[in-house]
Amino acid sequence: MLYFEKSQPAPACLEAEKLRKNGDYKCGDVILRLADDFKNKCYICEAKEPTDINVEHFRPHKDKDIDLKFDWNNLFFACSRCNRTKGTQEDLLDCTNKLEDPELRLKIVYQVSTKSVQIVVKEGSVKAQNTAELLQTIYNGTTPLQKLNAANLRKSIDAEIQNFTRLLQKYLLNRHLSEKANQLVLEKIADHLSKSSNFAGFKRWIIRDNEELYKVLKAYLD
Ligand SMILES: [Zn+2]
Repeated sequence: MLYFEKSQPAPACLEAEKLRKNGDYKCGDVILRLADDFKNKCYICEAKEPTDINVEHFRPHKDKDIDLKFDWNNLFFACSRCNRTKGTQEDLLDCTNKLEDPELRLKIVYQVSTKSVQIVVKEGSVKAQNTAELLQTIYNGTTPLQKLNAANLRKSIDAEIQNFTRLLQKYLLNRHLSEKANQLVLEKIADHLSKSSNFAGFKRWIIRDNEELYKVLKAYLD
């Protein structure tokens, strides 16, 4: 899970829809603005260009709290599976609040050898713990159905990480060559490390966890 800045001001239609009976919080340009702010990625599982997009309420409105239902700052971009799994859970890290930047509070690791995901809590707050538990369920599952869904999700992560790892190996092997010769590989690595990339959180932690790579690539983590 990565920090994303929410664009301001709120789409104008939200205020008007809030006053209407059965108003629609997916009005006007809400969905396009969310897709742009969250780089067309589910903020929970980090899958790029999900085909089952939901407008998710970060703080649940439970059909009672009309302010929360139409509050632009409470509308997030998620895939339907993550939206359903999160449900009405509260007290999670807010990935649009720089002060709660989840990337620095939770380390997410994909183990290629065991094809599993590990979430390491770097900061012991309740929000960090709750978010880690949610991500555990998303990436590993608890019920039989969740486990199968999670295994399918991990297949996509696996392909992405293998591809990224190959690039890193190539970069390290070619480092003795001129900067120019390695430039193309470096550009591809930079794309992978950008927050808009598929499962970028996993790739960014691979760099943080490797002293040699971190030294040369940390500029791409900003
Ligand atoms: Zn998702």
